[in-house]
Amino acid sequence: MTIQLPNKLGVHALVWVGGWSHAECREAIQNTVDAGYDLIEIPALDPSLIDTEHTLATLKEFGIKAACSLGLSFDADINNEDSAIVAKGEAKLMAALDVVAAIEGDYLGGVLFSALGKYSHPATEKSRANSVASLKRLAIAAQAKGITIGLEPVNRYESNLINTIDQAVAMIKDIGEPNVKVHIDIYHMNIEEQDLASPIINNAEHIGYVHIGASHRGGLGSGNVDFDELFGALAKINYKGVITFESFSSAIVHPDLSLALAIWRNLWTENKPMALSARKYMVEHIVRSNNLA
Ligand code: MN
Repeated sequence: MTIQLPNKLGVHALVWVGGWSHAECREAIQNTVDAGYDLIEIPALDPSLIDTEHTLATLKEFGIKAACSLGLSFDADINNEDSAIVAKGEAKLMAALDVVAAIEGDYLGGVLFSALGKYSHPATEKSRANSVASLKRLAIAAQAKGITIGLEPVNRYESNLINTIDQAVAMIKDIGEPNVKVHIDIYHMNIEEQDLASPIINNAEHIGYVHIGASHRGGLGSGNVDFDELFGALAKINYKGVITFESFSSAIVHPDLSLALAIWRNLWTENKPMALSARKYMVEHIVRSNNLA
């Protein structure tokens, strides 16, 4: 008998490919299905590089859905005091939203609130207010398309604005739109949070998407993260959303994302067995945490 899992399981496209040519799109979607995942997360740092018509046709051919994620860049950043830079950032977010709609997705997440990278200064009241205002317009535009917006707290070296789940929830309250959720990532939580359970339990109604990754962003089952604590907290809040596996190695290079995430080391070479074992690891933890066996 097949056990019905409470969560759809996703895999980040960078496990498979560094770009999104027609051949790479096909390879990534084929590998996602072959490894047993339900969803692929496509990075949309430059939304113009995604051929949405071809991507949608390929997703339909293989019978899976996609989510999109991105982080902004410093020259197109809504977390800035300069209105021209903010406008460029907002335009990029709106373009990414159009990509999600065109591939018939329902989720856009990531470091949508700021640039993805190390700032040399703290966020200011004004830059944060600009980010809130842009995200409110993005969320309203997303509502018309049935798309949820996810804010992903990342570690201090990757944003100066939202490093913890509490900060993301405060931002969501200021945005004040019902389709904005917290996109949690255990890799970042492991660096910035007090523990891996209480921020999830205390903010249960705001959790909308989950990234699973090892402490060094390599394969699952290695590293120092307490996955029992994390999956236990997700079971406790009865989380039914997507859980997506993220892993990065210098074996697969994205022209912008790999540099922004500081992927300098080769943590794996063989992506297929690595992705298969990651899915198995996730399923085992979900089954155990939810007493499904
Ligand atoms: Mn992540």
